[in-house]
Amino acid sequence: MSVLWPKISLLLNRVIKLRSTELDVLIVGGGTAGLLTALHIRNRAVTILEQRRAIGASTHCSGIVSIATAERLDIPEEIIEGVYSRLVLHVDNQRRLVFEAPKSVAVKIARDEHVKLLKQLVEDRGHEVVLGARALHIDPMHGSTVVHSRDGVKTLKAKTMVIAEGALMKLSREVGLRCVSLKLGGIQAYFEVSQRIDGESIHVYTHNFLGKGFGWVVPTRRGVLVGVLSERMTFHRFKVFIAMLKKQGIISRRTSPFFGGTVLRGYPLSVTKSSVAGIGDAVAMVKSLSSGGLYAISLASRVLAKSVDSNNLKDYGKWVSKKLSPQLALQYGCAKLAFLNNAVLLRTLSGIVKRKIHLHPRDFDDHTKLIIRALI
Ligand SMILES: Cc1cc2nc3c(=O)[nH]c(=O)nc-3n(C[C@H](O)[C@H](O)[C@H](O)COP(=O)(O)OP(=O)(O)OC[C@H]3O[C@@H](n4cnc5c(N)ncnc54)[C@H](O)[C@@H]3O)c2cc1C
Repeated sequence: MSVLWPKISLLLNRVIKLRSTELDVLIVGGGTAGLLTALHIRNRAVTILEQRRAIGASTHCSGIVSIATAERLDIPEEIIEGVYSRLVLHVDNQRRLVFEAPKSVAVKIARDEHVKLLKQLVEDRGHEVVLGARALHIDPMHGSTVVHSRDGVKTLKAKTMVIAEGALMKLSREVGLRCVSLKLGGIQAYFEVSQRIDGESIHVYTHNFLGKGFGWVVPTRRGVLVGVLSERMTFHRFKVFIAMLKKQGIISRRTSPFFGGTVLRGYPLSVTKSSVAGIGDAVAMVKSLSSGGLYAISLASRVLAKSVDSNNLKDYGKWVSKKLSPQLALQYGCAKLAFLNNAVLLRTLSGIVKRKIHLHPRDFDDHTKLIIRALI
């Protein structure tokens, strides 16, 4: 009985919370954005709804972030799978531009481990994570959500709601949160290395067959991560990319299943409505040149949590429109230009810039600076 009791009481607690009429803070989505926001909320009781039955069982993301972002995310060393000081851009298999830093500028996080760790920390703080519970509809005016869970369909009320549903953007759109967004596909897998490759370089490929996207080859502790991001026919392009890398003798056998999902280019416009706020992919908080979302989430989650604690979501809305959006909008504009017409501009420009460019740690979070530095 003593072994079973904690499990029974946890279960009872969940049922009671789901049945209670008004929650304090309700977060929809147990991804990085939802969990990190919950972790930073200090003064209020948080319930997170996650539609999947487990957190961290399948992640779609590569998990490459700058050192500064990794520090903000408080990443422990055990879940770092690679450390990088160079970015090598391969253009049409003919030219190579090397962006180099004297010390490490980026790391690769084990994303599955990271979200599991966040869930643990969130629960240790006394917040609740309810698995297998899907929000179907949100009414911002009445502060209510219709939820489908193992107990059936019911309506929950909450004083404050956060939408962190990821790139699906169903609820954020329904509620009236606004962003500029372009959806692309991303697919990747781990491979064995067949050629010795330098463990500190991230390789990025642009090529006609990669369309308006790009490919990547990233050495990690788990093997080499190979991926492709593109506007359509992503799997076909991925297969061509793999064939090319195999022909060049860089990779051999695939060692993991394929994984991936929707990647975004875009930026947020309006992230609050009444007592509801949006964060992460749900409102296109991404660096459009790489489609990375963790940088913006690492910043926005702290500001949002502070606004939730002080019950003033307007502060968060103002911070997003004044500080975050302009920066991400600039990156979006650059990405549109760079990847226009099968990245022809990027490929042309790369022919006229220096071959070796200094990489500043901050460039990793703001790729426009990288382009400007390359051009200057
Ligand atoms: C192939 C690929 C590679 C990437 N590589 C990088 C990278 O290297 N670096 C980087 O910074 N970013 C990268 N990204 C982007 C990054 O993964 C996202 O920006 C980030 O995961 C967004 O986090 P999120 O919490 O907003 O959304 P998600 O991680 O998608 O989490 C949303 C969660 O909400 C749940 N959910 C959705 N709807 C509901 C609902 N109605 N009710 C309950 N739960 C719901 C989902 O099940 C999910 O768990 C990559 C993305 C892809 C696809």
